[in-house]
Formats: sequence, structure tokens, C-alpha cells
Amino acid sequence: MNLHEYQAKRLFAEHGVPIPNGKMASTPTEAREIARELGGRVVVKAQVHTGGRGKAGGIKLANNPNEAEAQAGRILGMDIKGYKVRRVLIDQQAPGIKQEIYLAVLINRAARRPMIMASAAGGMDIEQIAEVSPEKILTVLVEPALGVRGYQTTYLASAMDLPRDLWRDFHKIVASLYECFKANDASLTEINPLVITDDGKLLALDGKMTIDDNALPRQIRLAEMRDVQEEPIAEREARLTGINFIQLDGNIGCMVNGAGLAMTTMDVIKLFGGEPANFLDIGGGAKAEQVTTALRLILSDSKVKAVLVNIFGGITRGDEVARGIIEALAQIDTDVPMIVRLAGTNAKEGMEILAEAEMETAVTLSDAAQKAVAAAQGGNA
Ligand code: GDP
Ligand code: MN
Repeated sequence: MNLHEYQAKRLFAEHGVPIPNGKMASTPTEAREIARELGGRVVVKAQVHTGGRGKAGGIKLANNPNEAEAQAGRILGMDIKGYKVRRVLIDQQAPGIKQEIYLAVLINRAARRPMIMASAAGGMDIEQIAEVSPEKILTVLVEPALGVRGYQTTYLASAMDLPRDLWRDFHKIVASLYECFKANDASLTEINPLVITDDGKLLALDGKMTIDDNALPRQIRLAEMRDVQEEPIAEREARLTGINFIQLDGNIGCMVNGAGLAMTTMDVIKLFGGEPANFLDIGGGAKAEQVTTALRLILSDSKVKAVLVNIFGGITRGDEVARGIIEALAQIDTDVPMIVRLAGTNAKEGMEILAEAEMETAVTLSDAAQKAVAAAQGGNA
């Protein structure tokens, strides 16, 4: 789950990261009032779940309450990469920016550790820094039992050539950002840019934070911060039905039960030269309702040229899934070819139901994947 900039920065601040004073506004009049309270010189910032807002015109400076009102009027309602701006953050302007730094804590899966990433080439996206000057990205792994150590931040500060008198504050900010990451079960806490101001202080101007969805049951306060209007419709629907769904770039839709089997199915599709259009784990005991929702989610992607259903019956029963598929197809009008493979509990009964309905079936996963790849290619030709 992603948080908005204003939410991320407040959580950072709870752990001691310095951020500008600011408040949220949903109308230009509110923006004006807040700008007045903050002394006039403010920055008006679109709150949407996407980066690059600055370049898209979603971040504007204002030097008095009138300008803040006008800028808020321009930004509210704006469309940024498909996200409609409904609220703006009004922050006090930084006194003047000498340097922009990139700083983040994230999980390094290969090392199975949290990792600090920093770069003196802040301001631009980390992906862009990685492309243009990868040597300017510095990383250190954190040993969870020890936390962030002084020598680590000293290395980062010196490699980035930060002024010596800021090293101490830099250490505090990195340690705070790491504590914030840990305490909130985040998978990412990012400050871009962390700036050095004209009066020689470090200040976090932007904030991005991703929370591990699996931690939300124990992070109630964070779960309540979810902005459902920012979620892609398909993902929201999947979440509410208990389906694990991730959209990908290929053209073979996958409906599978179990995350492991879903991964395997994707691997086998690729093995036979196909590309999966999504990851979808329909969960345990898939009934008609879930099957219908899953199929609708898969087919809502116009790239999908074939659907592969791969269900291993345990608690989930093959005949129930088969009936679910037929019920779903009665509700959804589609001519996308579908290949179904059922194994395990009541697979035979399920296959019979599907055969009666003249559905294409397969016994092994390789066979099913090959049929799906062929069907998807046929669809393209
Ligand atoms: P993003 O484009 O979505 O990453 O949004 P940011 O919050 O990072 O803002 C983009 C850029 O606007 C920053 O890199 C800064 O250069 C600039 N900016 C943001 N806040 C301020 C501020 O308070 N004062 C000034 N002068 N520039 C700011
Ligand atoms: Mn930014």
C-alpha cells in the first residue's frame, strides 16, 4: 500500500526527520488561508500516488496567499498520469536550496536485509540516476540487530561530499528514516529530495512510503490511511474479493489457486514462449463469485488474447471451480479463448462439466501452457 507525500512526511517527522511546516487543502480558499498562516511563501503540491509531479506541473511555488490560491486553483482537478488531483499539500517554502540529495531505505531481497540507498544526484528519479550515473548511487546494508551504524552514514556522507558540519545531522536523519521504516513495516521509505538549505540545514522536501500489505492487520493506523480513490479499480476489486492480482505486460491471462502455483504457471508459460498478462492467486476454496470476479479482472485488460486456468484441488473442489467458470462465462460476454486445467479433488467431475460445456481442457500444465501460447498467437495473427 502506498501513502501520500503528506502522510509519509508526517510519519518521518514522528521519528525525527525534519520536514517543512504544512497543511492539506482541498479548495483554493483553504490553500489561501493556510498560506497566510504559514507566512505567505509556500509551495503547493498535488497529492497523488505517482512521482514526477514537479515535471507534470503539479508542484508550484507561491509567494503570497493570493498566488497560493491561484496555484491551488490550477492544480486541483488536474490529471497527473491518470490520477485526478483532489487535494494539495501547502508547505512552507524551503529558504533556498543549495543541494538535492536522494535518500531511501528499502529491502534488498537478494541480501535479505534492509538497505540504505543514497545519492548526491537527488531531485531526479532514482531510475534516471541509475541510467545516467549509476556510480553515483551508494548503498549500505543494515544488520537488523544493530540498526544504522555511525561508520555507515559517515561513509555515505563522505562519498557524497556532504559538508562536514552536516554529517551528524545526516546520520540522525538516516537513522530516523530507518526507524520509521522498521516501526511501520514499510518496504520503502524515500526522501527525494533531501535538501541542504541556504542556511545550512537538511530538510526533507518530499516523502514516499510503501507499507507491506501483510502488516496492515497490525498497523491499524496505517491501514486507515489507505486512499481507496487512488487505487486502480481492478486492484481495489481484487483486494475486496480476497484475490491477489498483479497486472503484467503479456497477453496470456492467468487464473490460478495458490501463489506458488501461480508463479509456476507463469514460468511454464514463459518456457513455451508466452508472456503472462497477470499474476492472479484466487485464494483457497474458490467459488463461483471469486471465479467470476477473477475472470472479469483478467478480461478487463484488452491485451489478453487467451486465458489459462490452472487449479489444483485440495479444499478447492474441481467441480465447483468448473461450475464457477461456466457461471462466470454466462455473465461475461467474451470470445477470448480459454484453456482449463484441473487437478486434485474432484478434477474428473470438473473436467466432465467443462467437456459438456465444450470448453477446451488440458491434463498437464505443459499441455495447458502450450495450448494457451498457441491460442494467444493465433489471436494476434
Ligand atoms: P516529485 O516531482 O513528485 O518528486 O515532487 P517533489 O516534492 O520532489 O518536488 C519536485 C521538485 O520541486 C523538487 O525536487 C524541488 O526541486 C522542488 N521543490 C519542492 N519543494 C520545494 C520548496 O519548498 N522550495 C523550492 N524552492 N523548491 C521545491
Ligand atoms: Mn520527489
